[in-house]
Amino acid sequence: MRIAKNTVVSIDYTLTDTDGSVLDSSRGAAPLAYLHGAGNIIPGLEEALEGKAAGDQLQVSVPPHKAYGRRIEELHHKLPRKMFETKGEIKPGMRFHANGENGTHTVTVTAVDAEHVTVDANHPMAGKVLNFDVRVVEVRAATDEELAHGHVHGAHGHHH
Ligand code: ZN
Repeated sequence: MRIAKNTVVSIDYTLTDTDGSVLDSSRGAAPLAYLHGAGNIIPGLEEALEGKAAGDQLQVSVPPHKAYGRRIEELHHKLPRKMFETKGEIKPGMRFHANGENGTHTVTVTAVDAEHVTVDANHPMAGKVLNFDVRVVEVRAATDEELAHGHVHGAHGHHH
């Protein structure tokens, strides 16, 4: 079976940035299973996998506009420290969940002074070219329930 809309695809993958640093990998864990054509994974990777079959290997370089978008400088915010619920020390590099207009997202602390915390609300992978080394492990038809939910169920997918 070839990868097409409404197939469930399992892949082994390693994701590196342009410096060769590993950002994410399924090595040592279960393959990633996703519903193809449902926007479960970044568009650039989904496009590259279209038409592939189990056993195929591919290297894909995904530009930011087909991954997590550009970095936007306006997404840096200086916030009063009292907005942060933690009593502990806040340090650059720490991540917090913020509730915004479009739901919960992750922000990264970039600077701290006595009264303010500056956070970057960009996705941590925004602005990066992402290099995927992918092997297709399995391709199967999605179940009606998976299609209705828009995501994969079962061993390596989503559980309710
Ligand atoms: Zn579900």
